Amino acid sequence: MTTIGNNLQAVRERIATACAGAQRPVTEVTLLAVSKTFGPEAVREAHAAGQRAFGENYIQEAVEKIALLADLPLQWHCIGPVQSNKTRLVAQHFDWVHTVDRLKVAQRLSEQRPDDKPPLNVCIQVNIDGGASKSGVAPEEALDLAREVAALPRLRLRGLMTIPEPAATYDAQVAVHAQAAALFHDLRDAGLQLDTLSMGMTADLEAAIAAGSTMVRVGTAIFGGRPRHAA
Ligand SMILES: *Cc1c(COP(=O)(O)O)cnc(C)c1O
Repeated sequence: MTTIGNNLQAVRERIATACAGAQRPVTEVTLLAVSKTFGPEAVREAHAAGQRAFGENYIQEAVEKIALLADLPLQWHCIGPVQSNKTRLVAQHFDWVHTVDRLKVAQRLSEQRPDDKPPLNVCIQVNIDGGASKSGVAPEEALDLAREVAALPRLRLRGLMTIPEPAATYDAQVAVHAQAAALFHDLRDAGLQLDTLSMGMTADLEAAIAAGSTMVRVGTAIFGGRPRHAA
């Protein structure tokens, strides 16, 4: 097996162990392989090792990669910030967007989603730990935005996404992920049909799964370390 294949296997084992520890079925957690900064050959290797869902942060880089890999049955998730002038590319090329945090961006994505594609799956990004300069809607505004997004015709609201600050201990990681899980359940109790809680990365996927994550976004543990990226 290739390095990427071995790494994927190791990440799947981490997910399985975390699910067992949390007494959750492993089928509840989807692995999103974050391929930002890595080329199409790395994605091909991961696909050959059974991976189907890939996450990208930089729209232009992703659009080029998606075109080069059009022969494979892959699912593409936008997990980077979406400026208004990039919504058309995102609506045309991606299957999911995890980073909706403004109604205006959601409206544009809905208007620009091509008619021959299924509705675009979206998550609302929540700034769960209140970082001043961070993307994401404040937790107390998530319900209102979710209701408005759920009403847009060409979007399918799937859930919430968070990127908390790195926490020093496992318990601290679980605590912040548990806040996101509580908000997710509040929104469901309010009547929104959500099935996706996108949280957990290489460093904290175990804590995220313990708190209820249904989708972990893992880059480094699969593809290796990234050079610093300017975009
Ligand atoms: C880069 C990135 C990841 C993957 O992070 P790793 O620590 O490499 O696993 C996950 N989510 C988002 C939003 C990212 O930007």
